[in-house]
Amino acid sequence: MKIIMLGAPGAGKGTQAKKIAEVCKIPHISTGDIFRANIKNGTELGAKAKTYMDKGLLVPDELVCDLVVDRIQQDDCKNGFILDGFPRTIPQAEALKAALTAIEEKMEYAIDIDVPDENIINRMAGRRACVGCGATYHVEFNPTKVEGVCDVCGDKLILRDDDKPETVKRRLDVYHEQTQPLIDFYKKEGILVTVDGTQSMDKVFEDILKVLGV
Ligand code: ADP
Ligand code: AMP
Repeated sequence: MKIIMLGAPGAGKGTQAKKIAEVCKIPHISTGDIFRANIKNGTELGAKAKTYMDKGLLVPDELVCDLVVDRIQQDDCKNGFILDGFPRTIPQAEALKAALTAIEEKMEYAIDIDVPDENIINRMAGRRACVGCGATYHVEFNPTKVEGVCDVCGDKLILRDDDKPETVKRRLDVYHEQTQPLIDFYKKEGILVTVDGTQSMDKVFEDILKVLGV
């Protein structure tokens, strides 16, 4: 199964993508996680990406496209993959389409998790990320067992710099301007499905499984 997760920042793409990847036994490919790992490891790509991420802007297409195109051609992607946070622009969607067409393949589902902007602000302010393993939580909707401590690895939790309210506003503007047009792109491709992302995490997951027929 080849799946794209669409939706505003904070809509719940990562939360759902991890669960889908587990059930469908396919790799979860998050470009945001790839950039954060590069920043943590002090790579050149990480340093370049950080200058854009900190401002709430998108990393330029040329730094993203080849990276994803290479990743989806690795062996573990043979039975499919789930893309979380990519594509985020029309040129990225075109690059993905061209790479798959070249090997006579295509994406099968683009799942748009629909959440209005007013809910997003609250979601992002309450999101906490583990500095060790990158697991995400929410102080109200998905709290850890012990406050401030990751359930998975025991490391400490932080509020991501780009989740601070002033940056979230910029990220939402960027989403509406550059990423939302992908909804129409995938509607035209005939693979768009929309789920109501304001529901509980479990209900959103249930709706997605129904769409995927698993
Ligand atoms: P994205 O990957 O789209 O940026 P996340 O999956 O990280 O978004 O979710 C953003 C925040 O909202 C996280 O703190 C997460 O725990 C929380 N969250 C995700 N889905 C829901 C939901 N259905 N209801 C309430 N909170 C949610
Ligand atoms: P995310 O974890 O998906 O919210 O991504 C965090 C940040 O990484 C975004 O705000 C962008 O700056 C950058 N990023 C992640 N994926 C992409 C992408 N496909 N294109 C451009 N920038 C991206």
